Parts: sequence; C-alpha cells; structure tokens
Amino acid sequence: MTDLRPTIFALSSGRPPAAIAVVRVCGPQASVALEKLIGRVPAPRYVALVKVRDPNGGEAIDEALALWFPGPHSETGEDMAEFQLHGGHAVIAAVFEALGQIEGCRPAEPGEFTRRAFENGRLDLTEVEGLADLIAAETPAQRRQAYRQLKGLIGEQAQAWRKQIVEALALVEARIDFTDEADVPEDLVGPALCAAQQLRSKISAALGDQGRGERLRDGMIVAIAGPPNAGKSTLLNRLARREAAIVSPYPGTTRDVIEVHLNLDGYPVTLLDTAGIRESSDPVEQMGIRRAAERAAAADLVLWVIDGSAIDGSVNGIGVGSSGGKPFESETWTITNKTDAAVNSLWINCESQSASSDRKFAVSALSGEGMDALIEALAAHARDYFAGAESGLITRARHRRALEETVGALDRALAQGGSGTEELIAEELRSAATTLGRLTGRVDVEDILDVIFRDFCIGK
Ligand code: GDP
Repeated sequence: MTDLRPTIFALSSGRPPAAIAVVRVCGPQASVALEKLIGRVPAPRYVALVKVRDPNGGEAIDEALALWFPGPHSETGEDMAEFQLHGGHAVIAAVFEALGQIEGCRPAEPGEFTRRAFENGRLDLTEVEGLADLIAAETPAQRRQAYRQLKGLIGEQAQAWRKQIVEALALVEARIDFTDEADVPEDLVGPALCAAQQLRSKISAALGDQGRGERLRDGMIVAIAGPPNAGKSTLLNRLARREAAIVSPYPGTTRDVIEVHLNLDGYPVTLLDTAGIRESSDPVEQMGIRRAAERAAAADLVLWVIDGSAIDGSVNGIGVGSSGGKPFESETWTITNKTDAAVNSLWINCESQSASSDRKFAVSALSGEGMDALIEALAAHARDYFAGAESGLITRARHRRALEETVGALDRALAQGGSGTEELIAEELRSAATTLGRLTGRVDVEDILDVIFRDFCIGK
C-alpha cells in the first residue's frame, strides 16, 4: 500500500443495545470497507439501503443504511464511510470483525476522528474544544455557549487579533531591515506601537469578563453542609427530585461527597452533599470530613442546613461540634429544616427578615414546605451568577492563559519605545503572535494536543 496512514473505525453512537448503531470508518481504506461489506461504493453523500455481508462467507449480517463521504470535503477531511446498523452487540461485533480484517484498518482511539479533522485543517483547536463541550453540555445555556465556540467564536477573534499583530510586526521589521534606506519612513515603529496599544485594550476587555464563560462551562457549585442529621441528604433529594443520597436517621452515614447535576432554569448547578461535617476520632471519617470541607469551601454558594426541631429558641443549633461557626468563606444561606417538627414557630418564615446577602430560609425537606421559595431563590441566584455568560469569549483556563500571555508580551513591547529598541519590540510582538497562534492550534501545539483529545469519547 502506498498510503500508510491507518484507516480507523469506531462505534460513534451510544452504548448498545440500541435501535441504531452508527459505525464510522475514516482513512484511505474507507472505500475498500464499503466494497467488502456491501459490495459497492454508494454515490457520495446519498443514503443507500444495503445488505451488509460477511466478506468471508457472504452471510448477510444486517440490512442497513450506508453513506460515502469522499475527502477532502468530509468531516475529517479524509475519505469516510458510515454504516447505520441495527444496534445489537452481535451485529456490531460482526461488522467490527470484518473491518478489522481489512489491511490497514484498526479501531479508533478516543477523539481520533476529531484529531484528524484538526490535523487536516477542518477545525481549529478552539472549535475542537467547542465540539467537546457541545457533547458534554447538560443545559441549554451550556449548549448555546459550546455551539458558538464550535462555530469559531474565540477562534476567529484570535485569528483577527493575530493578523493585526503580524501587521504591526511587519512595520517594525521593515524599520530594522531598511534602517539606512532613505525611502523607508523614519517612523514605522510609532504606528506599530499604536496598533499594539489598541489591541492590548481589546484583549484586556475580553479578559475582564470575571470568568463568566468559564463559570457557565463548569456550572455553579452549591454545597449542602451542616451538622449530622440536620436533613442535608433529604434536602438534596428534594432538590434533585430523586433518591440520590442515602437518607438515614443515624449520624455520619453520608461519608462521601455526593454530586447531583441540576438544570435550574436552563443553567447548570451542581449540588454537593457533604459528609456530616463535625469532629470525629475515626480516621476514615476524618478523611471524608476533610474532603467534604474542602469542596464545600470552594463552592460558589453554601446551603447551611440546621435542624429546626432541635432548636430550643436560642441560636445554639448552629455550629460544628464544639468548634462552632460556619467554616465557609463563600456566600452562605442558612436553611432551617424540619419546620414540620419545629417546637418554636418563630423559626418559620424567617426568610423575609434577612437584609444581607446571607439569606435565611425555613423549610421542611420531608414535607416540601417552603421548598418553592428556596428553589426560586436558587434559580434567581443562578440567573445572576451566569448573567452575560453565554456571550463570554473565554470558556476555558487555556484561553485565558493564552490571552494573558499575549497581553504580557504586548506590554513588554510597549514598554520599550524609543529608537534602538526595534529588535526587542519585534521579539515581543513575535511572541504575542505565537501565543495567539497556540490558542487556535496553528503553531507549535504538540504538547497540548494530547490533553485536549484525551477527553473525547471513542468514535468522535
Ligand atoms: P443528614 O445527616 O444531614 O444528611 O440528614 P438526613 O437527610 O440523613 O436526615 C436525618 C433524619 O432527619 C432522617 O431521619 C430524615 O428523615 C429526617 N428529616 C430530614 N428532613 C426532615 C424534615 O424536614 N422533617 C422531619 N420531621 N424530619 C426530617
């Protein structure tokens, strides 16, 4: 064979058994795969109803749909074949067996189809990330954000910025190359620095988004914490409307952090049920407690649950063992639970008295009393938290780092000024252009590729 690039195949649809299984083949042998399995190559981009046969004995494996996408105008830029089979284990196994026998064909690794699309210039790195986020999106807001990224939101902006830097660099380099020539204007560096200055403010403005885009991608973390038996797990179940945590009348049974993903008003909210945070001499329990405390400490909002039925009118019910106090710096809402069993009705409806951002709610996680107000307040909080997030350019720490480095290089270029420093200015502008190039993956990115593609599923 002249073309040594392996042909890869994978199941691109979900876990079998399923109604339909989509098997994709990509690479130089894709047309051979069609010939071997269905006896012909269908017309490009038309669906063909076909019999899939075992190439060895000729036995019919399945009746299926087949498609042929010749490169370079395919998703990956290479020849691609697609089979839409019935999604049973044995059907898929038989087709894989047949494909595996074709010379130069092997199963794909996670993200390998997308990696080829990147290598063939069909997607830039930020679009690859957008695609990964689209697959992982759990709420409409995340989906919209990922789709914009897939369609080149930050990628195109970075390319445009990079172009402007390269233009400024060209001016400085002209000055360096033709210092002695009379027809090259003296002041080329001035306009270059002026362009760099403008660019610097634009990129800084994008960076000043307070991390809204990243927030939306990660979701808002709400930790449910409080003394053992206060009803944290019951509250989590009530919020999640399913039995996610084991509710038990014995203290200390929720040792680990339980995580539930909610779609609150279209926004992603992750609820953490922390282990009963309290003093303990059991080392295993101590470890769980420490982990719970760490995650809760990093949460965006803490729901501090206390047992309203145990409160005797004083505020002594709030506290962690003998150490007392709420161990969080995050905004904390106090949830007085078990209003149905409260001896002191003063604790009910205490929400309206709160003026500070640290709010108070009275609920019964068991009966559902007061839960609507709490859920509405959480949804309003999420709306504020995610305000403007969808339009944010930056959705990942990688983007932020690249733009920060670019601003740093521009700053160093601007700090030079004056004549005789052209070489240094050019060096910094070059570095700024390289950093932006890394953002879209067009230069020197081998080291970050593995990290990005590792997160994909096989068949994508
Ligand atoms: P956790 O240790 O804070 O997670 O507490 P659990 O959710 O396991 O609840 C401890 C006990 O309190 C269980 O027996 C629950 O049924 C009970 N409980 C939880 N919420 C309420 C409530 O609103 N009212 C009453 N009466 N009991 C509750």
